[in-house]
Parts: sequence; structure tokens; C-alpha cells
Amino acid sequence: MKYALVTGGSRGIGRAICLELGNMGYHVLVNYQSNEEAARQTLQLISDNGGEGSLLPFDVSDRIQTRQVLENWLQQEDGRCIEVLVNNAGHRKDNLMLWQEDPDWDSVINTHLGGFYAVTQCLLKAMLRNKYGRIINIVSLSGLSGMAGQTNYSAAKGGIIAASKALAQEMARKNLTVNCIAPGFISTDMTQDLPEQDIKATIPMRRFGTPEEVAAVAGFLASSRASYVTGEVISVNGGLYM
Ligand code: NAP
Repeated sequence: MKYALVTGGSRGIGRAICLELGNMGYHVLVNYQSNEEAARQTLQLISDNGGEGSLLPFDVSDRIQTRQVLENWLQQEDGRCIEVLVNNAGHRKDNLMLWQEDPDWDSVINTHLGGFYAVTQCLLKAMLRNKYGRIINIVSLSGLSGMAGQTNYSAAKGGIIAASKALAQEMARKNLTVNCIAPGFISTDMTQDLPEQDIKATIPMRRFGTPEEVAAVAGFLASSRASYVTGEVISVNGGLYM
């Protein structure tokens, strides 16, 4: 059995990636923080498509809990390996830095950058033993260009991009690839509170993207067809380069 783990797989982009990987034959481990109902819907959709999956809830920003859950899972059956890891879980706490509250800075950094570190580090050894691995990090246009009102989020995503490039070099000889996908504006719960009409006017394609359009790129990066692609950031943004 080949396993794939998608953090934040209960909703939005993560859910679409779970379906994509389920269609590719992976047993998908659907991680989420608290929305069990949404995570169960993801599982149902995977099985409706003829795939397999299970739930693996933990808070990626809690390093101790993350390690406990993942180490338990790895120990349950010797030789188990997660071949594809998609670090996707995340949230926004936007504010101008002038008004930024410490907890909002910390929670965004700890969830995105801290989550990437905690989950990835836990799974690397088994991937190395497996002599094959695909690590895909969902970052953002904000991490490439910076976005006013998002210093915390831009720093977290930019940090993941730099860490991915470093890790890609560490792992390149071991048949493990590490890549990032940088979405622009995608229609999910995370972007529901944004003024979509105004933003659309600034996007060359004049629309938000869909989670499935991000998932298609994740499917490619997860596949053996992407075997010579590592340390790369692929934008999925309708032509919006700020
Ligand atoms: P979303 O619809 O709000 O879904 C967020 C997902 O992350 C949910 O599954 C949520 O779990 C999970 N999550 C949040 N905090 C978590 C934690 N501490 N531990 C475990 N799971 C956690 O968001 P989305 O738009 O799909 O975003 C997915 C990723 O794409 C994020 O990294 C985001 O930064 C990135 N992104 C999104 C856009 C966009 O326009 N939507 C653009 C660029 C980048 P629960 O369901 O349990 O809450």
C-alpha cells in the first residue's frame, strides 16, 4: 500500500489534492485540525471515486502532537512509509504590521513554517529508507512577492520556499524531490471574505482559480513524470505576478 499525507485535507485546496492523489492510487491520509465533518466528506468523495483513505487529525502547529501522531502511525506497521507529503494546512491572520498582535504573528508562522518543519522532519527518515519521496509545499504568491497586510503570512510562505530549495539540495541524490506550488487567488473558505469583484479586475484571467487547478499541478509533482523537477516553485495564479 502506498500512502500520501495531505495536511489540511478536509477542505479547499487540500481536499482537491486528496481526491487527485486518491485517483492516482494512493491511500490518502486526510489530516485536519478540527472540522471532522468536512474531513469525512473528503473521505467519502475519495471512496466515491473508487479510492481509499483514512483520517489523521492533528494540529500541525503543535510540534509535540504532530510528532506523537506521526510516529505512532509509522510504528503501527513496520515498513510503512508515506511516499507523498503535501504540506497544505494553513490560515490567514491579516493585519498591517503596525497593528499586528503577537498571537497572530505566532500562529501564522507556527502553522505554515512550523508545520512544514514538524511534519516533514518526522517523515524524512522513512522516505529515505523507501528511496523515493515527493514533498509538495503549498505556498503562495504572497511568499514570492510579499503582500501588504500579510507580513506574517508572506514571511511564513517565503520561509517555506527557501527551506524547500535547501531541502531539495539535501535530498536530491536520494530520489526525494521537494517542490512548492504558489497559488494566486483560489476560491475556498480562506478567500471568502475578500472583495472578489475588485480583485478579479487585477488578475489577467479575470477570475479566481479553482482548488482542482492547484490539485492538477500537485498530481504532476507527485507523479514519477516529475522525477527531474526539484527545488522548484510553480505558480498557479491566472497570470497575476505582482
Ligand atoms: P481552507 O479552505 O481555509 O482550508 C484550510 C485547511 O487547513 C483546512 O483543512 C483546515 O482544517 C486546515 N488547517 C488549518 N490550520 C491547521 C492546523 N493548525 N493543523 C491542521 N490543519 C489545519 O484553505 P485553502 O484556501 O484551501 O488553503 C490551503 C493552503 O493553500 C494554505 O496553506 C493556504 O495558505 C494556501 N493558499 C491558498 C490560497 C487561496 O487563495 N485559497 C492562495 C495561496 C495559498 P479544518 O477543516 O479542521 O479547519
